[in-house]
Amino acid sequence: MERAFPTLHREQFDVVVIGAGINGASAIQHLASAGYRCLIVDKGDFASGASGRSSRMLHIGLRYFETPHPLLHFGLRPGRLITAMRLARQAMAAVEEHLVDAADRIWPYRMCFPIYRGDPMKRWHVAAGLRLLSLLGKGRVRLDPEIVDRDHASKIPFFDDLRDTASIRGIACYREFKFDWPERFCLDMLLDAERNRAVLANYCTAELGERDEKDGWTVALRSTGNPSLKPAVVHARLVLNMAGTWIDDILPSHRGRIVQGTKGAHIVVEMPERYRGFGIATLSRLNQPFYVLPLHKNLYSVGVTETLFEGDATDVACSDEEIDYLIGETNHVLPGRALNRSDVQRSWAGVRPLTYSATEPMGTRTRELHDLAGRGFPDVFALTAGPIMTHRSSGRLVLDTVAKRLPPSAPPGRIDYAPYRFSTGENSPPLLADEPEVRVSDIEFGVSKEHAKSLTDVLVRRTGLAWRRNLTRSEAESAAGIVAPLLDWSTEEKRVQVDEFLSFQDTVFRRPAAE
Ligand SMILES: Cc1cc2nc3c(=O)[nH]c(=O)nc-3n(C[C@H](O)[C@H](O)[C@H](O)COP(=O)(O)OP(=O)(O)OC[C@H]3O[C@@H](n4cnc5c(N)ncnc54)[C@H](O)[C@@H]3O)c2cc1C
Repeated sequence: MERAFPTLHREQFDVVVIGAGINGASAIQHLASAGYRCLIVDKGDFASGASGRSSRMLHIGLRYFETPHPLLHFGLRPGRLITAMRLARQAMAAVEEHLVDAADRIWPYRMCFPIYRGDPMKRWHVAAGLRLLSLLGKGRVRLDPEIVDRDHASKIPFFDDLRDTASIRGIACYREFKFDWPERFCLDMLLDAERNRAVLANYCTAELGERDEKDGWTVALRSTGNPSLKPAVVHARLVLNMAGTWIDDILPSHRGRIVQGTKGAHIVVEMPERYRGFGIATLSRLNQPFYVLPLHKNLYSVGVTETLFEGDATDVACSDEEIDYLIGETNHVLPGRALNRSDVQRSWAGVRPLTYSATEPMGTRTRELHDLAGRGFPDVFALTAGPIMTHRSSGRLVLDTVAKRLPPSAPPGRIDYAPYRFSTGENSPPLLADEPEVRVSDIEFGVSKEHAKSLTDVLVRRTGLAWRRNLTRSEAESAAGIVAPLLDWSTEEKRVQVDEFLSFQDTVFRRPAAE
């Protein structure tokens, strides 16, 4: 049962989690199942930060060995090889876990990595990397690795679109996975936490207050969506600052830095039917990982960039320069596609909450759970650089850390990693004839059980419909017609919601609804 957060005023929690992205959601799922009394708040909708803007890859870890000069890179600094091995082992473990109990929420495709004559990454490097990963996976994750020669190029459906095929020394192919879609993972975990008595509040911003020995920290809560809701103050024995790129803002009097944002941009284009089920991995001309990945039906995402980001990531979107760069790189990899601006159906960008480093200007990708006691915040922890794919191990890390500080105030419950399911709504009609998987009942559940507060929440994060294709005004109006009676929207409010959703499509996905 949802509780409006002002009714929580003066309540005592074991743990308050600030930020309901993938890491906050995993943390609260693990803590609530262990018997901790928890509250999680997000200033926007659940999973509306980096977790709703990623490339959605559940990759097997080959990228940790992708570097233009592997022998120099790893040979001169063996510590880098150890880190790469550790990250790759975590990646393989994450794939294995998801295959066991969340196979419905991920899907496999065949990743292809073209190797050219003169590439710093030689054929044997890639073969060795795949062999190493197979060993790390202990045979439990089927990778089906293969290096396809030019003579067998017919196995690669996009071969003729590639650049300079005469110089290709082989195409490394292996099985890789995508999340469908990360926002849903967040919701599944949050709903499981709620089943274990955790309290969830979206559109509620949190500010860290004072700490006293008896009640712990005060956390001030304010509505970001409804100005008529009264603010509230709750008490927390321990605070988890899981606010992604906003982590440093939660600690106002703190002068140091914990998080470093880097921006990543993607474009969405249509590829020919023959590409289905295949993806392409390579390095861009800037030597950054570059992917062409299946998204939905014939839609593919192309990306990703990495540039330093400072500022507020809330409404971050692709710039014109990023879109042009991604078109240029796609045409470099696949000149046969000859893309131009009119082929871009939409785009999106996000900001990675990486770990700040005084020596690495782009931050580091090493996941860290920071104990902020040494910075004047005892019993406050913050997590940086936690990717989506290893969110379960982040949740376990948080639980282990909290358990060393604090006993739970209630007996443990049961954690359930399985995708959350409400009544199947089998007889419910689809909202759109060409997207039969999203039914009217899914929209109703999104509102009545999954805390959706706006049309954008429903279309982007509860049903994922807006990720599948651009929606027209009349389609958005149909969805709003289902939500309106459930949230008591007036005709005027319904119109505002439709306009806000179309504006989101226009500015964040950079695509006006076509009509
Ligand atoms: C372009 C891009 C591509 C990526 N690709 C992949 C990939 O393919 N695979 C993968 O595994 N990972 C990928 N990542 C990394 C991954 O998305 C992030 O590391 C992960 O989502 C971070 O999750 P988080 O929960 O730490 O932060 P976030 O998801 O950003 O969550 C933080 C939350 O805190 C909330 N918040 C902030 N301030 C407050 C406040 N004062 N009060 C209340 N709430 C607050 C925000 O609204 C936000 O929802 C990618 C990231 C980007 C940007």
